[in-house]
Amino acid sequence: MNPLTQPHSGRHFLQIPGPTNVPDRVLRAIDGPTIDHRGPEFAVLGKAVFAGMKKVFKTAGDVVIYPASGTGAWEAALVNTLSPGDRVLMAETGHFATLWRKLAERLGLVVEFIPGDWRHGADPDAIAKRLAADSAHAIKAVCVVHNETSTGVTSKVADVRVAIDRVGHPALFMVDTISSLASIDYRHDEWGVDVTVGGSQKGLMLPPGLGFCALSEKAWRKTKTSTLPKFYFSLADELKYVVKNEVRFTPAVSIVVGLLEALRMMETEGLANVFKRHDRLARATRAGVEALGLELFAKATPSPAVTAVAAPKGLDSEKVVAAYSQSQNITIAGGQGEMKGKLFRLGHMGYAAEFDVINALAALEQVLADIGHPVDFGSSVRAAQKIFAEKS
Ligand code: PLP
Repeated sequence: MNPLTQPHSGRHFLQIPGPTNVPDRVLRAIDGPTIDHRGPEFAVLGKAVFAGMKKVFKTAGDVVIYPASGTGAWEAALVNTLSPGDRVLMAETGHFATLWRKLAERLGLVVEFIPGDWRHGADPDAIAKRLAADSAHAIKAVCVVHNETSTGVTSKVADVRVAIDRVGHPALFMVDTISSLASIDYRHDEWGVDVTVGGSQKGLMLPPGLGFCALSEKAWRKTKTSTLPKFYFSLADELKYVVKNEVRFTPAVSIVVGLLEALRMMETEGLANVFKRHDRLARATRAGVEALGLELFAKATPSPAVTAVAAPKGLDSEKVVAAYSQSQNITIAGGQGEMKGKLFRLGHMGYAAEFDVINALAALEQVLADIGHPVDFGSSVRAAQKIFAEKS
């Protein structure tokens, strides 16, 4: 927020689904002199963050940390395990699934996109059906976005694994957890995921700049035969460093320092409590939105990290986003891709608490009233407070 262009006094609130708010503790940790990434201090830091990220991914395997946004991790997942012309099965869950598809096609992969309406998560039965028909095992990977940030819909990762196993297909299973990691329960090993990709700027409460890849043993084996070109993102080369708690190239040192602090915060709260908190905030947000007579965009499996709201008929959702910013000093998100103008999104991921939800809902009432939409003032806040008043 540029104070020179914003007329507001008082605090600005960032309530988008990433990048998310960075806690003061993390900001203070980052606000130190840069350290030598080949020196003894980084050796200690590297050891701690690699170990911490294994806990976050719930994997016993190695996790790679790239100085990249989530898209870099997406690319790394594909170029390290697949070869030109390989067939990949993806599920159309929204804007990010569509972008991952574009990336795969640009790399020379052949993508089969299981169509979706953006209001439901990936359909495990549809995936199983397609894999069952692939008796020649031409499909080399199945890719699913865990939390479709663009629509506020989640996919049931464990169910997709079960579906793949049910038909005995050997395809790799890849999952994008860029906006679910450290917000929504996720279990890389237990759910049999082969490559999980993540990013720093969402549930991990950090600035953008780190991309993560966690691999299964099967996926590590595939890195030996994959022939798509890679240099910067070569996981096999990176692994030689990771096993020594080092990194191959200059890391985003300051953000890695911040990561250690964020990991400490999550350790204190407990990951299970982090997930519970997100779930509670999401339920309260949904209750508040519905109390205003608005329609939730998700038709099933709504996201604990972001709530997408369908714009009332005849109202361009961009107007809601603009009004939030202009009159409330709150930045929320609009629709992306095909959903531009059709929905708006309230983020409640990462460093978020009850007040953030109450704040966003109270502001929503004001925004809607300003736009001329009938509003029963206080109704959405009351609905959210009722959820917060419930035990657990
Ligand atoms: N996948 C999901 C689910 C996302 O939410 C995003 C970004 O918001 C991306 C991929 C792309 O990540 P990045 O913008 O960090 O490159």
